[in-house]
Amino acid sequence: MCVGLAAERTDLVSRESSKRYQEYCCVATCFSLMVYDVTNLLLLIRWELMPSVMLSIECCQRNREKNVKPPECPCGQRRENQVGAGKGGPSACPPLLLTNSYPVAGAITADFLSGLAHWGADTWGSVDLPIVGKAFIRTFREHHIDPTAITRHDFIETNGDNCLMTILPLLSTAYKLHTQTHEALEQLFVWECFVVCVSILLTFTNQIHKWSHIYFGLPRWVTLLQEWHIILPRRDHRIHHISPHDTYFCITTGWLNYPLEKIGFWRRLENLIQAVTGEKPRSDDMKWAQKIK
Ligand SMILES: [Zn+2]
Ligand SMILES: [Zn+2]
Repeated sequence: MCVGLAAERTDLVSRESSKRYQEYCCVATCFSLMVYDVTNLLLLIRWELMPSVMLSIECCQRNREKNVKPPECPCGQRRENQVGAGKGGPSACPPLLLTNSYPVAGAITADFLSGLAHWGADTWGSVDLPIVGKAFIRTFREHHIDPTAITRHDFIETNGDNCLMTILPLLSTAYKLHTQTHEALEQLFVWECFVVCVSILLTFTNQIHKWSHIYFGLPRWVTLLQEWHIILPRRDHRIHHISPHDTYFCITTGWLNYPLEKIGFWRRLENLIQAVTGEKPRSDDMKWAQKIK
């Protein structure tokens, strides 16, 4: 009996240390890729042309509003020389929104993806499912039982799993930055910036989520970001932690929580899935909560 317990304990310790090693590797790889991607994307920007970029974008927008034909647009010449501008002058100018707002589009996309993953793990499946049950669903179910446990995790444990997820998109951008020509990269610039923005925000999602559970001792700049609603505010995430945990799933910026709740997005999606599969949302979550009590 004692030998069995000792073997089980050794097995648990070795699994924990290999998980810790994997988390270290993921964090180191992910942050190296982030630095490489961001540095190279910043180097692609021709900063000396920035004032004329702003001017030409404004000019293009004004001409578009006035319905001026492309050959008459005075900023056409200049735009051909900008990063992210298509060939052929103003007719190929990307809309102002697309040119300037990839950080905002990236933040909205990352917020939606965080909500979708969180909703999926909270609502469907069981902790007994092979691989995903233990590795993914269980942590979400346990978080509802003990929401402050996350605040006791160190940086590596908090961010290791998210780093594992974002290595692939960051690696794909790094590969393109390393292998593509300068001209090809100029065409890809806006898209790659978007991918890197989404990846960085998803990498930090669990860190942001952890901050939303800490009420004392946070650095001032974090509380300011929360108060200005640039990242998930504590008051918003509290709404999700009210049983039965069926709303406010987005945990990156939290920008989509209110509009998605207003249109009943998650409820409609759950009704649709229930109608198609017959599965009841959160049935395993209820059982799990009762088992723990
Ligand atoms: Zn949850
Ligand atoms: Zn939480």
